[in-house]
Amino acid sequence: MTARLLPLLALVLAACDTLPELRHEGRHVRIGTSPGLELCAGAVEHMDRFIERMAAEFGVEPPTGDARFTYYWLTREDFIDLTPCPREVSACAIIETVFSTEAPLDHELVHLFVPDGSSFFGEGIAVAYEGLGGAVEDTRSAEVKRRDIWSSLLAPLWFGVRYDDAGAFVAYLLDRHGIPAFQAALPKFPFVPTRARLDRVFREEFGVSLAASVAEFAGARERCPHLAYDRKLMECNAPAIAWDGEHHAEYRRLAADEPDAVGPYRGDELVILRTLEVPTAGDYVLEIVGDPPVGGSNIFADLALSLVRCGGCDDGEPVGFAVESEGRVTLPAGRYSLRLHASARIDTRVAYSLTRVADTTPR
Ligand SMILES: [Zn+2]
Repeated sequence: MTARLLPLLALVLAACDTLPELRHEGRHVRIGTSPGLELCAGAVEHMDRFIERMAAEFGVEPPTGDARFTYYWLTREDFIDLTPCPREVSACAIIETVFSTEAPLDHELVHLFVPDGSSFFGEGIAVAYEGLGGAVEDTRSAEVKRRDIWSSLLAPLWFGVRYDDAGAFVAYLLDRHGIPAFQAALPKFPFVPTRARLDRVFREEFGVSLAASVAEFAGARERCPHLAYDRKLMECNAPAIAWDGEHHAEYRRLAADEPDAVGPYRGDELVILRTLEVPTAGDYVLEIVGDPPVGGSNIFADLALSLVRCGGCDDGEPVGFAVESEGRVTLPAGRYSLRLHASARIDTRVAYSLTRVADTTPR
């Protein structure tokens, strides 16, 4: 969420002198944490790159030097005691500063690029760019039948906004009208929305009425899940796996101090991000095994490999898979986000592989 507490901010920040010291210095963000909270080794680089990619999307320079963003990752207790955020939320972004009970949380970084204003459009763009996080399954529903855009659109405050619906609608507007047009409209969306006021902005900025936009969205895009409409800025621009399209295998260490380990999402989830180009549509066998083997101890139960097809709502059916040991999947050709998932508390080695199943079609 964003908070609109500007008049109170000076007073509040004056009271925030017990916020933890900043202990991580990134290129674009400085991070302070409550005592005992430890980022995975690749988290600062992840946040820096996310900020660079968001800045590129919005056509602005990422903040550097004294203008860098500030990110406080706090325990629930510190969050309540030390931040100006409302008690009922778990994170908020106020004037170049994120206060959060989780890190990383790219959703909040998106808010720092967006002017304060409409809750629906502010949350919508944050959800459209927030990424897939650390969970094996997307935390937002993959099966969507209907979205009631109107009730969220007309909600005056963030708690009336259904975030996934706002994200889906904003992603549609970005695809339909382009990022510059959406950016131009963003500061004009009213803080207190009414149909008439929203309609005026839509007609002036997009050249189409609000009702026609909602109708087109309902007809073409309302079933598109977050997995597909999310921009996946990090997931789909990760280092590419070099392979021949037939077989790839890797044996590596998984631990929070590995330089490319990102997390701990939601306190415990570690991910390694890669991309995979699948040159030929077909069946593939995916395998992942921990050393010691998965199942040997509960601590390895979180080990998994997931694949999510890159691209958006118009690139065919969204494809997402996860395996905890072995699985056979049918993949359309294209780019995929490949993620290795583990608990940030483990220190282990893992072997994973992908193998194309020979084409058995009779000729
Ligand atoms: Zn938000």
